[in-house]
Amino acid sequence: MKDMYSFHRNQADLDTYFEVVHGAYDRIFARLGLTNSTYYTFASGGDFSKYSYEFQTELSIGEDEIFLCKKCWQAHNLEIIDPEHFSCVQCQNTEYTKKIVSETANIFKLGSRFSDAFWLKYQDNDGETKNIIMGCYGIGVSRLMGVIAEKFADEKGLVWPESISPYSHILIVIGDHLEEAKSLALQLESKGFTVLIDDRNMGFGQKAGDADLFGITHRIILSDKTIEKWGYEMKKRREAEGILVQL
Ligand SMILES: [Zn+2]
Repeated sequence: MKDMYSFHRNQADLDTYFEVVHGAYDRIFARLGLTNSTYYTFASGGDFSKYSYEFQTELSIGEDEIFLCKKCWQAHNLEIIDPEHFSCVQCQNTEYTKKIVSETANIFKLGSRFSDAFWLKYQDNDGETKNIIMGCYGIGVSRLMGVIAEKFADEKGLVWPESISPYSHILIVIGDHLEEAKSLALQLESKGFTVLIDDRNMGFGQKAGDADLFGITHRIILSDKTIEKWGYEMKKRREAEGILVQL
């Protein structure tokens, strides 16, 4: 779990900053390819604010369920609704649809509960000692990894989004071409890519199978056949056919 806390002079300052972090979280989910399947869900705020906010990602084997308003598509956690007499907190519409999800992040406003408990105060410009208002922002990093692995995998193995692929390229060397492979890897690395060279002494089928299993975004093959054509074969993880790229 990644946790972050923010500290503020007053509620308005927290409210402004809270939406900045909300925006940053939206961009994280966009980079992970999860925007369309992640719902910003209203949940119980406990004693200190009306709501807390969960990022719930649709997943068939998820542990949670959410209730989506059929009119404005606001998502609600079970804690804050009555499924028998559903009423959307945004638009009061009474029709909903359910989704099976996994909670991947949550953000909420803590008020001064913890700062008070620690006697954490600040002195304002007017010399008065005042309460500090806090916000709290979590992302389940290992949970997210599991959700992404489960959600994007196919029958061949993992499929990492490029933003979190352990390497951008896996370079399969067939035959006696390790030197060419190293120089190609250096070339790609100088452009900011990360390259895993598979120079194990085994057949192409096994190496290609492992490349699919690892889920690395791009697969490169360097072999007698491609060298004859002065190039290498490049294929994205989900594509069936590679293309020849000139060396
Ligand atoms: Zn609604």
